[in-house]
Amino acid sequence: MKEIILLKLGEIVLKGLNRKNFEDQLLRCVRRRLAKIGQFQVKAAQSTIYVDPQQDDIDMDEAADCVSKIFGVAAYARACVAEKDLEQMKAAAGEYLADTLEGCRTFKVESKRSDKKFPYTSPEISAEIGGYLLEQFPHLTVDVHEPDVTVTVEVRDFGAYIRAGLERGAGGIPVGTGGKACVLISGGIDSPVAAYMMAKRGLDLMAVHFASPPYTSERAEEKVAELLHRVAQYSGRLKMYTVPFTKIQEQIREKCKEDYFTIIMRRFMMEIAERLAVEKGAQALITGESLGQVASQTIGAIACTDAACTMPVFRPLLGMDKEEIIEISRRINTFEVSIQPYEDCCTVFTPKHPRTRPELSKVLLEQSKIDSAPLIEEAVRNVAVREIF
Ligand code: ATP
Ligand code: MG
Repeated sequence: MKEIILLKLGEIVLKGLNRKNFEDQLLRCVRRRLAKIGQFQVKAAQSTIYVDPQQDDIDMDEAADCVSKIFGVAAYARACVAEKDLEQMKAAAGEYLADTLEGCRTFKVESKRSDKKFPYTSPEISAEIGGYLLEQFPHLTVDVHEPDVTVTVEVRDFGAYIRAGLERGAGGIPVGTGGKACVLISGGIDSPVAAYMMAKRGLDLMAVHFASPPYTSERAEEKVAELLHRVAQYSGRLKMYTVPFTKIQEQIREKCKEDYFTIIMRRFMMEIAERLAVEKGAQALITGESLGQVASQTIGAIACTDAACTMPVFRPLLGMDKEEIIEISRRINTFEVSIQPYEDCCTVFTPKHPRTRPELSKVLLEQSKIDSAPLIEEAVRNVAVREIF
């Protein structure tokens, strides 16, 4: 039996004149993301996107999982395709939904007829198919208020589609409709969640990671790549730029007062990330900071880090508790990777008593002990890039 996936659009239907752009971008996202699974025809009509497999051996579980992670899709459902003929639609409903209907006690049928040439009205279609299913599955009763399952029949231009309920989609708006931003990614729990959240708001991502070998290992870097791979299941493909950070950290340790180590290091990160972002056409930075979580994330410390760059810095986790962040990281499958114990450059040379209320003037004075410009030049020049998908 022919099966397809129907995608229902989310917020993008609200976007007025922009709607066409959003819809086109969503179609591009869906096509690109499904390409690794097989050949599909993807088309939009009547505020629905049809995902129609063009090969017999396509794994539809995998395809459904893939579309469940595409931003801009509010809800989706697998459906079977039947001829627009009432007898064929009945038989298809009975066969396609047999497992679902066996497993529940009450149901109802809802019909939508957008092809007005079809000779039955929606209530007639529901009554006919409902009656047939009651005959085929005698254990069922109809409950129009709170059914275990709602069988939906959509008679559209291209055919009749029969499905059970809709699954919730990834929500948000399609990646790429909001421009591009650069996430500062560590191996921790927070920054992958921050990346996911901003991609959900339509941003295309690039990622910058600071590595300090030999203080940080190659495996720590692989861990970050694995985290980004998991984020990419939502954001789509992105590039990871790894910045060699050892020399800068050693200079900080050598020349600056210990209680300023972290804040100065973070300022270098922002400045370098901004440089790379500008180079690659990104317009904002993203970090996983949460207010008050650690000494470098107090209001004063954030003021000092922000002053190191001119781009807007998006901090989607700023007002969230750790528990709330962990909940999302579990849902998007990054948690189990984040908790693997590898060192981050933030955890080497950490001061015993970091400043929680740094003054920008004093920070700048400390930082002026380092000749920053050539160090930054060198770091940017030696960035390594890899493709994540
Ligand atoms: P995370 O769980 O994301 O590591 P955290 O709570 O441990 O966050 P910090 O280590 O203070 O916080 O880092 C704050 C933010 O700085 C991170 O969320 C991330 O955006 C950025 N960051 C930290 N370390 C790195 C790194 N090695 N490379 C790139 N960005 C980093
Ligand atoms: Mg960290």
